[in-house]
Amino acid sequence: MPFHPSLLPTPFVTVSKSALLRNMNAMSEIMQAHPAVRLRPHVKTHKCVEISKLSLTVGGASGLCFQVLDELEPHIKRILEFDKSKGKLDFMLTSSVVGPIKLKRLKDLIELSEDTTLISVLVDDVANLQQLVDLKIPIGIFIEIDVGQNRCGVNVSTSSGLQTVESLARTILDPSNKLQYRGLHAYQGALQHVRVKSERSSLVQSQSVATAAKVNSHLLSLNPPINSPLITGAGTGSFLHELSGGVHNEVQPGSYVFMDTDYLANSSPPPFEHSLWILGTVLSNATGRACCDIGSKAVDLVSGVPKFTNGMTSEYLTDVVYESGGDEHGVLNPTHPNVQAMSVGDLVYSVPCHIDPTVNLHSEIAVIGDSGDVEDIWEIHRSCGR
Ligand code: PLP
Ligand code: MN
Repeated sequence: MPFHPSLLPTPFVTVSKSALLRNMNAMSEIMQAHPAVRLRPHVKTHKCVEISKLSLTVGGASGLCFQVLDELEPHIKRILEFDKSKGKLDFMLTSSVVGPIKLKRLKDLIELSEDTTLISVLVDDVANLQQLVDLKIPIGIFIEIDVGQNRCGVNVSTSSGLQTVESLARTILDPSNKLQYRGLHAYQGALQHVRVKSERSSLVQSQSVATAAKVNSHLLSLNPPINSPLITGAGTGSFLHELSGGVHNEVQPGSYVFMDTDYLANSSPPPFEHSLWILGTVLSNATGRACCDIGSKAVDLVSGVPKFTNGMTSEYLTDVVYESGGDEHGVLNPTHPNVQAMSVGDLVYSVPCHIDPTVNLHSEIAVIGDSGDVEDIWEIHRSCGR
């Protein structure tokens, strides 16, 4: 199998296996200093069963997060490949499951997983919870609370919101149904890229941490009290602050396995490095500018343009500036000597600004070993969000 990356048809996503494992090790070391907090990495970043298996075997993960059923399904279909010697697998969908087709699909996946896996989902709505009760199958349930992102989640700033959380929890805990109460989902995605660490930290404390603490103490003060076993949330940009907040006992970072330029632009980012590059080929330098085959169908451009590196390193070619050349083309600034020296057929290495939507444009990852050769091809289960 091993072959040189120049034999890949570009654009192609490549991952350095050793850099990926270094990121997982760096995360495990951080988590070892917080033994009361579990790590549940988010699969939405990579959508790849092989990387999930690494997270659970060597990456220190206690369970996994999925955003959509399209990510969960291939994991359940390949469940026999997972090591279950530590007991049931703990897979959680960090979204509500809404509509008859998705509810039926969830039921089928839970039945398919049999006793190997506890599958959990979010709720923030009484009628939606009743639909889950009506499935009459074991499902783990987290109550999603809005901790400042103004997206989904019960609005707990009012007493009626707190009552909604209580009533959802009482229904979940009702022994006449088959649901299992897992706890509170308290994730604030909008804070991940607050650039200055001290500002990010204080916003995480005043939003995610303080709101989760308020709801948790309210539930504990009831008669009978409601204990939330897990309080979960956090991403790569914020998880250090949830760890120090002392309220979350589970964190869900995803991007740290690959990283992207947006995360590395935060001040004092955690010790993760680029492990993923989009490999491209120079198609033309006829007019003195290099034009490569990395267009908007190969790299997400919504959050910003990719940076180019000197091979599979984190060393940016700072003067190589990317401009969109359309769906299948990217134009590289003609003034830089690195660009002037590029010839038709040369390989170029780029790192995306935003990793998850970029990976989702591709269906395969080439795994590069220490020799520099492609040692494996892993499947990416891309999805439009179902
Ligand atoms: N948890 C939830 C609910 C998310 O939506 C996301 C990302 O959007 C994450 C965790 C992971 O965040 P990141 O990839 O920024 O580490
Ligand atoms: Mn993202």
